[in-house]
Amino acid sequence: MKWGLIGASTIASEQMIGAIRSVTGNTITSVLSSSAARGADYAKAHDIDHGTADLDDLLGRCDAVYISTTNEKHKDQALAAIAAGKHVLCEKPLAMTVADAVEMVNAAKSAGVVFGTNHHLRCMGIHRRIRDMVQGGDIGDVLSARIFHAVMLPEALRGWRINDASAGGGVVADITVHDADTLRFHLGEDPAEVVAMTAAQGLGNGVEDGCMSVWTMPSGAMVQDHVSFTHPFAGNGIEIHGTKGSIRAQSAMSVMWLQGGGTFELTDKDGTRMVGAEGGSPYDYAADRFTAACRGEGAPAADGVDGIKSLAVAMAVVTAAQSGHRTAVDYGGV
Ligand code: NDP
Repeated sequence: MKWGLIGASTIASEQMIGAIRSVTGNTITSVLSSSAARGADYAKAHDIDHGTADLDDLLGRCDAVYISTTNEKHKDQALAAIAAGKHVLCEKPLAMTVADAVEMVNAAKSAGVVFGTNHHLRCMGIHRRIRDMVQGGDIGDVLSARIFHAVMLPEALRGWRINDASAGGGVVADITVHDADTLRFHLGEDPAEVVAMTAAQGLGNGVEDGCMSVWTMPSGAMVQDHVSFTHPFAGNGIEIHGTKGSIRAQSAMSVMWLQGGGTFELTDKDGTRMVGAEGGSPYDYAADRFTAACRGEGAPAADGVDGIKSLAVAMAVVTAAQSGHRTAVDYGGV
């Protein structure tokens, strides 16, 4: 399958170019940048034959696109690719509003092309193993979950993330969406209502760089989520507590060392033991699942509706923080 990269981005160069190429039969034929010169340089640096600033030119050279521009560009670029009959793997958050994300996903459905959202965490072996245990009833009925995902944003990733609300900056758009997707993946249900407070703790310039929120689930479970760009030593992880057991997965929200698989703690009436998980790059897994879906085999690891729903939770968190009110999550009718 011939791929076009929409966006000469860091995530494409660090993860997705390799991931797309890791799938037998995939080639990357072109890369789009807003600057023709930068596109050409990026193409050369990554051994891609063609770089362009013309979206139609790119669309004429591929069967599928991977969109990793800044967030405000995703919608128009996805709609153009869909109109040209291309499959779309789009970065999170899908768009700036839930309505825009719904429009993108509906357009793909009408056009009969595959649409995926690049939520990598659910592709990690450790999260797939946790989900199997939770869904298999190993910890009983889930009572609560806690996601702690406060990081120190690397210098290289600062830019628009910390100073440009119009490009989709802010920690909620960046990290809360991933946590919402991961939590939905584990619990198999969608957050109903949220309360939230945001903070500016030194990095955010016109956007929030920290947020704590609490989500209620239809089952009655409660979820606590902490995201931040300003914590150098906090570590990260997820805990899920049920009537029969508790799972504690330290460092599970960071991808780096977990490529080797990783382990997590399970505590139940028999005591505490470590459970191992399959290794491998979650980005390779996502590319593999997406490519197979384009061949008509299975579905992307996270589809368009997953992308709409993770965005909807993040938007509710923003609204709750701004209003100070408990806010129902509006999934845009999906
Ligand atoms: P970058 O800032 O690296 O790239 C975004 C855009 O910025 C690029 O499309 C490019 O524009 C421009 N740009 C990048 N580097 C330079 C540079 N050196 N000089 C000039 N312009 C530059 O963003 P990320 O790769 O971190 O994020 C892109 C998207 O991917 C976002 O939607 C983000 O949320 C998502 N993301 C997802 C991750 C995941 O794990 N699923 C992880 C990280 C990001 P142009 O294309 O016009 O040249």
